[in-house]
Amino acid sequence: MEHPENHTDYKGLTVNSGVSQPPVVNPYLKRRKKRSLPSAGELVEGILAGDITRLSRAVTLVESTAPDHQALAQEVIEKCLPHSGNSRRIGITGVPGAGKSTSIDVFGLHVLKSGGKLAVLAIDPSSERTKGSILGDKTRMERLSVHPNAFIRPSPSAGSLGGVARKTRETIVLCEAAGFNNIFVETVGVGQSETAVHSMVDFFLLLQLAGTGDELQGIKRGIMEMADGIVINKADGDNINRAQLAQAQFRSALHLFPPTASGWQPEVLTYSGYYELGIPEVWDMIDRYFAFVSENGYFEKRRLQQARYWMYETIDEQLRRHFYDNPAIAAALAEKEQRVLDNRQSSFTAARDILDIYFASGNR
Ligand code: GDP
Repeated sequence: MEHPENHTDYKGLTVNSGVSQPPVVNPYLKRRKKRSLPSAGELVEGILAGDITRLSRAVTLVESTAPDHQALAQEVIEKCLPHSGNSRRIGITGVPGAGKSTSIDVFGLHVLKSGGKLAVLAIDPSSERTKGSILGDKTRMERLSVHPNAFIRPSPSAGSLGGVARKTRETIVLCEAAGFNNIFVETVGVGQSETAVHSMVDFFLLLQLAGTGDELQGIKRGIMEMADGIVINKADGDNINRAQLAQAQFRSALHLFPPTASGWQPEVLTYSGYYELGIPEVWDMIDRYFAFVSENGYFEKRRLQQARYWMYETIDEQLRRHFYDNPAIAAALAEKEQRVLDNRQSSFTAARDILDIYFASGNR
């Protein structure tokens, strides 16, 4: 329709009809090809040659939930397994603010001084909730992140703690096959993720802070019991005396614990990550631990125990996923749950009914 202002009687400006708008979506985008998957052979070859791009690609596949990615990842892991195992796996935990990033940066540089390569991985249960990973973020380890022999990978973010932990363990295998002879696995010292980390490392380092009052307050006994070494960070400036006091308290607390399975007496040291004080001493303790457990056979024994543990963990996780991913189960669960909540059925018979559906659905 002609604009009223274009009428010959109208004395104002002329208004032209508008031009038609282009479609919102760029039609050329459709033509972009999906990145095709590399072959397992290509990935394995790249990993064994220490190619970081291929390693990262394989780790991304490990983290993916897509069935074709998973199948490929498993094939790559299987082929890398014979080339793995040749590393020191060190778990590092501490509450937020304990100085993990600062310390890993400094410890990492210290380790790399004597050659070799270092991979820093993380298990961060909170990333499930926040959908974004905090741990392993490259900006947190400034110097390490630009070191040519360091590989920093954030925590896998999807799935249950068990799933996240399995992915990290599989990533360890890939990193070792790529020649990384030092592996750090970082976790926030607040919950169950320590148990997961403990089940995949040779040495478990607990970072602590000297606070005011009771130093041992709020530290889960279980976490302390897992530690092969406790290091009190921020032993600098005015804080030195408090750090030493905390050290004494931790030492006496450790004496109350039963002897460790390795026969190693966990040590307590103070250091400063920020001012880089006491770093060689911390590393000397870790070296002594490795010498001790290699000598008495515990190193090998613990790795075998962990391999067995992971076999059962994987079975548990796969069974659970297979069960909950079954559409018949998903439908029945909601209904049965409501019946239980309405007190119309007991938990046990409801569970029994659902399991019957599962077993009757001919699972393969
Ligand atoms: P994270 O949350 O455990 O990773 O801890 P960060 O490494 O981010 O450190 C938390 C804060 O403590 C930062 O502001 C650091 O600068 C500070 N910090 C870390 N290490 C030391 C240390 O050895 N001495 C002092 N005084 N501050 C430190």
